[in-house]
Amino acid sequence: MNTKKLIAGNWKMNGCLAANQTLMHELLSGVGQPACDVAVCPPAPYLAQVRQLLAASRVIDLGAQDVSQHEGGAFTGDVSATMLRDFGVRYCLCGHSERRLHQGETDVQVALKVKRALAAGITPIVCVGETLREREEGMTEFIVKRQLSAVIHLNGHCISEIVVAYEPVWAIGTGQTATPAQAQSVHAVLRAQLKAATDQAGRIRILYGGSMNAANAAELLAQPDIDGGLIGGASLKALDFLKIVAAAG
Ligand code: PEP
Repeated sequence: MNTKKLIAGNWKMNGCLAANQTLMHELLSGVGQPACDVAVCPPAPYLAQVRQLLAASRVIDLGAQDVSQHEGGAFTGDVSATMLRDFGVRYCLCGHSERRLHQGETDVQVALKVKRALAAGITPIVCVGETLREREEGMTEFIVKRQLSAVIHLNGHCISEIVVAYEPVWAIGTGQTATPAQAQSVHAVLRAQLKAATDQAGRIRILYGGSMNAANAAELLAQPDIDGGLIGGASLKALDFLKIVAAAG
């Protein structure tokens, strides 16, 4: 792939004002001029804080962990894409498996979220991935294609503006990483699906996520269809996250 890789940190529901400040200070002092794009996705209440801490940086972008499928109005607790845009958000996770699992987000809702993000000028990072049971039943390809196809279907010609993250659910937060070969084979399936939808598929970045860490990043990132990483646990430790960023160079 010719595109710059992207390393995005998903802080999940972690952090506080003091811890965020320390983490951002360590990241900003260590990141230098990376060869890849870098983003951090703090919890929504801290977007303003992290934006302020990033103000002087042109190196690390701001991401959100979720966006409402609605434009605005009576949706208590939701945060709209235009609100995120107000806070300088550049990327937004859509359909993370933890939201599909705990909030019951459906493929259609995820596709709507992607549409809202794109309309606000935010790059959605569309998460897809199979559970352990689905993998064991030989359903991996079917599941990830079904999840991505809902997004392609609703977003048509804008599809080349998305980022995809393949995150096998069994690898998230478990310390059990997909092997580079396992990950590459699913990425190739996703690439082929994107190619069938757009002649711009070559520039769509497909990230791998699922216990990526400083030790395994280089090998995963060397696969031809792995264009970056979505990092959970390791994104909370500046040194580990920076090593992954360096591995994407
Ligand atoms: C994630 O939350 O997207 C993720 C990949 O988590 P972890 O790196 O902790 O597996």
